Amino acid sequence: MTVIDVRRLKAQKIYSGELRLDFVPEEGLLAIPYVGFSGPVVAALRYEIFEDDCVEVKGSITFTLEGACSRCLAQAKETFTGEVYGLFETPEGDGETYGYRNVVELGELMRDSLLFALPPRLLCGQCTNDEKNGEN
Ligand SMILES: [Zn+2]
Repeated sequence: MTVIDVRRLKAQKIYSGELRLDFVPEEGLLAIPYVGFSGPVVAALRYEIFEDDCVEVKGSITFTLEGACSRCLAQAKETFTGEVYGLFETPEGDGETYGYRNVVELGELMRDSLLFALPPRLLCGQCTNDEKNGEN
């Protein structure tokens, strides 16, 4: 997992930047039967290092789910996008924020962002249309 090396960036007087990363999510995050991730999760992030050494990381994650429609079991595939927002404080987070020492580790933020973005189910195109039209 990519890290933000805050100590090195500050030494270079770099206080903000963008980064892209992709990662394979851990098994078990997804609780929809017969559905899995199709390929890695892709994150497009922007970070900013503030004067008090807080680091703000925000952006988006995109991932594709593939498997059986939760309604009719037909093959379904859909791409989802979720928001990423995290504030890192050194040396400790306060429960709402994350902690870091010299280097911001993105793993926990990525995991939390993904959990928040996961849909409760996956629907095929037909079932999505049926629900929009109010049919059961
Ligand atoms: Zn369906």
